[in-house]
Amino acid sequence: MQNFITNYTKKRYLVYSIVSIIAFILPFIKINGNHFFLLSFDHSKLNLFFISFSTQEFYLMPFILMLLFLSIFFITTLGGRIWCAWTCPQTIFRVIYRDLIQTKILKIRKNINNKQKEYSGQYFKKTIAIILFYFISIITISNLLWYFVPPEDYFEYIKNPNEHFLLIGILFFASLLFTLDVTYLAEKFCVYICPYARVQSVMFDRDTMQVIYDEKRGGVIFDGKFKLHKKPPQGECIGCEACVSVCPTHIDIRAGMQLECINCLECADACSKIQNKFNRPSLINWTSVKAIETRDKIKYFRFRTIAYFIVLLIVFTALIIMGSKKEYMLLNINRSSELYQISHINDKVEISNAYTFLFQNTDSKTHEYYFEAKIEGMDNSVEIVRPSKPFVLKAGEQAKKIVVIRAIKKLVNDDQKDIIFPLHIKAYTKDDNKITIFRKTIFVYPKSTVLKEYNQK
Ligand code: SF4
Ligand code: SF4
Repeated sequence: MQNFITNYTKKRYLVYSIVSIIAFILPFIKINGNHFFLLSFDHSKLNLFFISFSTQEFYLMPFILMLLFLSIFFITTLGGRIWCAWTCPQTIFRVIYRDLIQTKILKIRKNINNKQKEYSGQYFKKTIAIILFYFISIITISNLLWYFVPPEDYFEYIKNPNEHFLLIGILFFASLLFTLDVTYLAEKFCVYICPYARVQSVMFDRDTMQVIYDEKRGGVIFDGKFKLHKKPPQGECIGCEACVSVCPTHIDIRAGMQLECINCLECADACSKIQNKFNRPSLINWTSVKAIETRDKIKYFRFRTIAYFIVLLIVFTALIIMGSKKEYMLLNINRSSELYQISHINDKVEISNAYTFLFQNTDSKTHEYYFEAKIEGMDNSVEIVRPSKPFVLKAGEQAKKIVVIRAIKKLVNDDQKDIIFPLHIKAYTKDDNKITIFRKTIFVYPKSTVLKEYNQK
């Protein structure tokens, strides 16, 4: 005899465990001092795929958001509410609270297969369940915060609550809200609040995977929302309503697809156990409208899914290309408002230009920085007067440097106008020759009449 029992619920638990473990340990993993994802307002930096970006490099954020939204469109068109059932924290923590804490540990609920029945009384146990979940919430919210305040800072900060009152306040208040959500709002959050639940139906097509009751096999039970029979006069559904009592959102999938259905497939598992006794597969399947009508396989490769996939690939490639162009130091150059300075040094007339250089170390290590200056096509024509020696910047640190560059010889003899020379700056770290950047600015040399006037003074 063939076994028709499906085990989507157990598979979901396995996915929950994997997702939770990854989400928990990911903030602790660092490569070259960088996290997989960290948006730190404290240090004004973004870590993405273990690369550090400063706030000046936040041009990557639109790509990340586009990637996020396109992934949602793609996954929803292909697999329907796969996110809701398999990875959404709301569903995961409802399972932990209702099925593990309330049912398995504290025995407030008598049966995991009946999620419809509410049990009155047992106030002591119910309070214990909420307190227990509040502690889980604190760990969960801490886990979420580690993506904004890295664990190495987070554990230091919570040791000094007086100095980090905001962080501690967010932790306890968000944990309280999350506890209220999971213990009180429960699936009402999915049905009435979650914006994704409300918009995802517009992304569905007739090939999108959904949880569907096979009316042809099982028989007609509903006419629209009106229930005609408990058990259909014709069809394989025996009217046991195991699919109804197991449903966490309290719906009857035999009435057709509904906004409330989170696609958890618990009804499919419940029905498979019943139908297996008759040597038949479940009447409730994870399939598409078209596949159930044509009794054919689900069509995964279709215009919409392929188009989303191609656009996703393009945006992902653009993100990788933009990310790989990351510079491990930033340098902005501003000239001073004065065109040039003329001075007498050792009876010699010297011409210098002043600039403000804004350096930033966008690497995760401390480096020693300096730079070279060269007029295009004229070697050994200028020298750096200030700063006179290299300087150190810690990871993420910025420094404003007043820079004075002096001509070491007569550059031009023009009595009509001041001459503008292209000036090339090569900035680099002394300890890592891979970190080098080039910038262009100008060096202004005065006309000869100005120099004559200066000499006559
Ligand atoms: S579990 Fe299956 S057989 Fe029982 S009521 Fe639901 S659809 Fe019908
Ligand atoms: S109808 Fe089925 S798949 Fe939908 S929420 Fe209820 S049990 Fe889950």
